[in-house]
Amino acid sequence: MENINKLDKNNCTGCRMCEQICPVKAIEMIENKEGFIEPRVNEDKCINCGLCFKRCPQLNDVKNNRLDEIKVYAAKNKNVKEQKESSSGGIFSILANYVLENKGIVYGCAFNSNLVAEHIAIKSKEELYKLRGSKYIQSNTQNTFSEARNDLNNDKLVLYSGTPCQIAGLKAFLDKDYDNLITVDLVCHGVPSPKLWKKQLEELERKSRKKIKKIKFRDKDSHNWEDYGFSIVWEDNKNKYIPSGYSPYIKSFLEGKICRECCYQCKYSKEERVGDITVADYWGIEKEYPDFYDKNGVSAVIINTKRGELIFEKINCKISYMNTTLDNVKKYNTNLRNPTIRPTDRADVYKNIENKNFRKYIKENLKYKKELKDIIKNKIPDKIKKYIKGVLKNGV
Ligand SMILES: Cc1cc2nc3c(=O)[nH]c(=O)nc-3n(C[C@H](O)[C@H](O)[C@H](O)COP(=O)(O)OP(=O)(O)OC[C@H]3O[C@@H](n4cnc5c(N)ncnc54)[C@H](O)[C@@H]3O)c2cc1C
Repeated sequence: MENINKLDKNNCTGCRMCEQICPVKAIEMIENKEGFIEPRVNEDKCINCGLCFKRCPQLNDVKNNRLDEIKVYAAKNKNVKEQKESSSGGIFSILANYVLENKGIVYGCAFNSNLVAEHIAIKSKEELYKLRGSKYIQSNTQNTFSEARNDLNNDKLVLYSGTPCQIAGLKAFLDKDYDNLITVDLVCHGVPSPKLWKKQLEELERKSRKKIKKIKFRDKDSHNWEDYGFSIVWEDNKNKYIPSGYSPYIKSFLEGKICRECCYQCKYSKEERVGDITVADYWGIEKEYPDFYDKNGVSAVIINTKRGELIFEKINCKISYMNTTLDNVKKYNTNLRNPTIRPTDRADVYKNIENKNFRKYIKENLKYKKELKDIIKNKIPDKIKKYIKGVLKNGV
């Protein structure tokens, strides 16, 4: 057996590199019991070429031409509308705009019409809203690695964005350096299962007896960027905001309970990055550089390669930025130092997810309870919360 079946499935990220590289299409991606996809080889079709495991980024290291001196910035998009529609400081949108203005193609994660997160390609600025903003679920890369290779071979400028394991998957798939490729990786806490996400959506729809049309994580229209709640637009165009403590899904995500198994041993939760440019939330900015704090979001931007440096020089006129250090960013951003810690009860988290109704599931598996502080927080109107915050900060 000379194929990807060699890989311990708990170490698989589901990037789809092996499926895309297989010359005889012997690999199929199958949903496992937790709702994550993983490869299964059809041994009858397999020709034992070994490409899948020789290239697998979990079994082999992917190189990056790292600058001797990486550059690190606190940054925010000068276009406040774009900044507000993004999860952090809106730097991804500036990079994407640059590529689209140069007739390039941008790959990233979007919700499809069933609110499933998947990677797509866009060619125009009008479509950029689809990729903007974090979707806190594992995104399916579909066949975007093959599509991106075609675009690169046709001399198109390509920006590919995603979690570091997806960028590593793309690079392993390409196995060659392209001057026309820019990669952007995110600092990543870990990815929850699309199946659990679907269950959370079904429960929301069941309770309200309405279909959900749109979801926005960390909606800054009503809340600051630090808030992990999400807003819903129903089919009748009414809105609802779900605070993070009121969503068993988000609460469990933040507690690190529902990540894919491989995330707890993530190779990329460290300062050496896999993308040309890394973007993240600049947590702790209010302590490090209070004057640069912005309630609409601040990004940490790490320039890892010469290509990243060249692009940043082209776009920096669109950004308010200041120099900082990796140590400053790492201080408050744990996933730049180490993977999310696996809670002892992780093994049971997804058990019987298939068979239980959501209410039973969150009680028994996620051990979710609304906390008093969240109930109080949710009852106090935002205006009063702001007033209390002001009093605590500045005195009466
Ligand atoms: C699952 C997940 C976990 C994260 N964990 C952390 C963390 O621990 N610490 C931290 O500092 N930052 C984390 N981030 C990154 C952060 O939320 C912002 O995405 C990032 O700072 C970029 O923000 P922006 O304002 O520049 O652009 P935005 O417009 O907010 O970013 C959009 C970008 O995110 C990509 N994207 C969105 N959802 C996904 C997804 N599901 N899978 C792959 N790519 C996706 C899009 O392709 C696009 O490139 C995480 C993001 C995701 C998706």
